[in-house]
Amino acid sequence: MLTHEERCARMRERHHRNMLDPAYREKRRTAAHFNYARRMAQPSYRQKYAEKHKVNRQRRLQDESVKTRYRAYNVRQHERLKREVLQHYSPELKCVRCGFTDLRALTIDHINGHGTEHKRKLGISRSGSHFYRWLRTNNYPQGFQVLCMNCQFIKRVENDEDFRRGRDKSAP
Ligand SMILES: [Zn+2]
Repeated sequence: MLTHEERCARMRERHHRNMLDPAYREKRRTAAHFNYARRMAQPSYRQKYAEKHKVNRQRRLQDESVKTRYRAYNVRQHERLKREVLQHYSPELKCVRCGFTDLRALTIDHINGHGTEHKRKLGISRSGSHFYRWLRTNNYPQGFQVLCMNCQFIKRVENDEDFRRGRDKSAP
């Protein structure tokens, strides 16, 4: 007769072995989804679920420590994404003009200018995760490079590129 611990160990081993099999994983995933969908099909369950989660969410968001954790998590995720995208354009993570390496002041530059226009066309904000995600989703298109803030600013002045939205160049 096996002890409880021994039985658990055996089951765990079997589970890990099974999880190597893609078909088994898919079956488990489908089953989990099916059960979830079946529960969610009941309006009473849906309502209870929504209420419970609303309350939990409110409670969580009131908690300072949770807020701090969320914020830190978002910052980390943003940095990870930025690093990932920048690495595609500059494997050594540095400004192509001056070699500056502080990630905080590195940005993606449209080599041929008109970056603001491009982003406006895409309907995304001019900076931040949105644009990095767009680059990643579109498989890192050509025409971009890594510049530091200083070099980007200098380049804009050199090219007489007007980067401020809606500003007329001919205006005084
Ligand atoms: Zn630079």
